[in-house]
Amino acid sequence: MIDEKSNNQPIIDKYGRKHNYLRISLTERCNLRCSYCMPENGVILKEKSKYMTSEEVIDIAKVFVNLGVTKIRLTGGEPLIKKNVDKIIIELSKLPIELSITTNAVNINQFIPILKKAKVKSINVSLDSLKEERFNKISKRNYFQRVVSNIKLLIKNNFNIKVNVVLIKGINDDEICDFINWTIQTKINIRFIEFMPFDGNNWGWNKKISYNEILRKVEKNYGSEGYIKINDNTNYTSRNFKLKGSKGSFGIISTITNPFCDSCNRIRLTADGKIKNCLFSQNETNLLSALRQKRDLEEIIRKSIDSKHYERGGNISFEKLTEKTIKNRPMITIGG
Ligand code: SAM
Ligand code: SF4
Ligand code: SF4
Repeated sequence: MIDEKSNNQPIIDKYGRKHNYLRISLTERCNLRCSYCMPENGVILKEKSKYMTSEEVIDIAKVFVNLGVTKIRLTGGEPLIKKNVDKIIIELSKLPIELSITTNAVNINQFIPILKKAKVKSINVSLDSLKEERFNKISKRNYFQRVVSNIKLLIKNNFNIKVNVVLIKGINDDEICDFINWTIQTKINIRFIEFMPFDGNNWGWNKKISYNEILRKVEKNYGSEGYIKINDNTNYTSRNFKLKGSKGSFGIISTITNPFCDSCNRIRLTADGKIKNCLFSQNETNLLSALRQKRDLEEIIRKSIDSKHYERGGNISFEKLTEKTIKNRPMITIGG
């Protein structure tokens, strides 16, 4: 649904940040139950009509592309369990955008032909442990072997793979160097993500591993001469490094202790069609109802981005946050 009236001006917020990256959550459901993402008792799903259909996802995406969005990432819940996800991938690939996906890779082997057809080049896969028992404990399912063999399959099929590792103190922080060792012979990018607070995920300051802690471990293991800083992309979220002589690289995403809001270009669209202008914003804008009422989406989108806070959803007392004062959706209903 390209709006003929649109002035095609990019979406720029009041801090001058151009928003050209849309992350679309396709579903709140998942085939895993990662403890840091899905609340212990799950989430109460809404009736089906409250979620975007595949046609509505495509219609809304087209409006954003008309407003200068050049990159779309599909996420979830688990995006690859959305009904008709293959149709969404193919239709979005016809737009002038870079299309990518964040997935747990449990069933991605069935989608390789579609992803190739859609010219998807880069895939982010979540894997929080290289130990089978531990991975299965964190994700509360038994798919370790499948995920690992699917990552290998993706690499064999020439996709660029980033592996997302959410580090939690006492759970998997002893594996930092094991993950980095994987990059020595494999062209893979490991991204250590700081554990972030969302409803129902038992977050606490004492469970986070900071940027400096990770680098201290790296220095201790490989020496200060053993690794180098490499370039961060524009609008980066991750600070990147590599071991000298390694094929792959590793990065650190530290939204809490070292945020990167000054170059934020991200807009999130939840599976129930709400714009979340920041991962931590408490206000949402219902784009799906507006679409169904045939209202002007461009104006609504611009207004939402215009109200975006400079940093972390305006949560200025972030440092004082405790698990009891978190007010946000569970991560599984946002999409990372
Ligand atoms: N199911 C897909 C997956 O796991 O890759 C896509 C959705 S998942 C919500 C997107 C990303 O968010 C994953 O890389 C996951 O590790 C990350 N994530 C979820 N909860 C998080 C938390 N509390 N802190 C940091 N990252 C989190
Ligand atoms: Fe599912 Fe991804 Fe959340 Fe794990 S992180 S529960 S795989 S949505
Ligand atoms: Fe952007 Fe919000 Fe994340 Fe900062 S916290 S980088 S403003 S989404």
